Amino acid sequence: MPERIDLTADAYAQLVKAPLGKVDLWGKHREQGPLHAYLDRNRFKYKSLSSWAYNIAMGCNHACRFCYVPSQTTKKYPDELKLYGVTDADAEWGEYVLLRRWDEKKFRNSVKRAMEVKAEELNPDGNRAVILCSTTDPYQTVVAAGDAPRQTVLNTLRQTLVRRALEMILDESDLNVRILTRSPLAKQDFDLYKRFGHRLVFGMSLPTLNDDLRKRYEPKAPGVQKRLDTLKQAKDMGLHVYIAMAPTSPECQEDDLRATLTKIKEFKPITIFHEPINLRAENFARIAKHAADLKVNFNKRPLLKENWAAYALWQLQAVEGIANELSMGEQLHLWPDKTLGKRNVWNHAMRTVTLPTTDLAYHAHVEWLAMWWNRISEWPQAPKAK
Ligand code: SF4
Repeated sequence: MPERIDLTADAYAQLVKAPLGKVDLWGKHREQGPLHAYLDRNRFKYKSLSSWAYNIAMGCNHACRFCYVPSQTTKKYPDELKLYGVTDADAEWGEYVLLRRWDEKKFRNSVKRAMEVKAEELNPDGNRAVILCSTTDPYQTVVAAGDAPRQTVLNTLRQTLVRRALEMILDESDLNVRILTRSPLAKQDFDLYKRFGHRLVFGMSLPTLNDDLRKRYEPKAPGVQKRLDTLKQAKDMGLHVYIAMAPTSPECQEDDLRATLTKIKEFKPITIFHEPINLRAENFARIAKHAADLKVNFNKRPLLKENWAAYALWQLQAVEGIANELSMGEQLHLWPDKTLGKRNVWNHAMRTVTLPTTDLAYHAHVEWLAMWWNRISEWPQAPKAK
């Protein structure tokens, strides 16, 4: 059974009054107080992950060096973030976690609004699902170094934000749910997932089995073995499991990709998403700096702008080939970045590996991209009525 959630009004009120910090409540600086968490239509393109997103925080403690979120979300709020001590939302990614407020009435209203959206107005690849989460990890441990009371309140709130939202989606709607996490803390809610039946799919990010690589790219996220154990437990409980083998770093050569896919096969996932690292804002700088801090050899060449497309295409196609060899092609769902459709980008990548750049070859490439961009990910079927 999950631990009891007990966030007292008093503890919460004290946190609201406390000075602003990098680990805090988002929107606390406003006269109206912290911002609440709600379902929002998602902005994904070519991902087939969900129709709505439910995000519990601004920032993420897992600190993945490649993370695209700051370039798309938190960088939009530089002035507000400064109030919390964040001077560079991208460079300081992983150092700040600002949780949203839990407001049952407001959350319920957002569920009702979602229910009213007609099927034809939704993105056809979203499976009418809510993703937890798209811009943070729903099951992270919030760390407030040197401030144990603050840490306790925030972790209790984190748990409430996820568990109560799931309970309400389950009991008060017919929406589907997609969980995406890197953390074994998800086990806290497996009992609840089970009650969703075919309406919930549980997924973990597993780009590699190499824990040294994990430390290099996802320094504060739980290790590989913990993720494998969590997936096994999910499978043993009969949950519908998928895997995001994403993003695979340039160090993941054929052996590594094959080992990861072979392991993934054991979990019989309904879908295996894959993408290489895409270049966004300053993520290359973050990756390079962390490698330097760790004093590891970092071959930056594949992630330089002029070489990126060749690395990305090679990995996508390598994963496709290995998945087919392992009879996992039907479950594979590649996420090629939209820039790979640009003729000049593709031409450059082909020349790098001395392949032809004819119109015919380009059209075949565009068709291949379109196949992945238009793919709709799997969703479990409702059991047949007896
Ligand atoms: S867990 Fe997800 S949101 Fe958090 S840092 Fe990693 S990639 Fe970004």
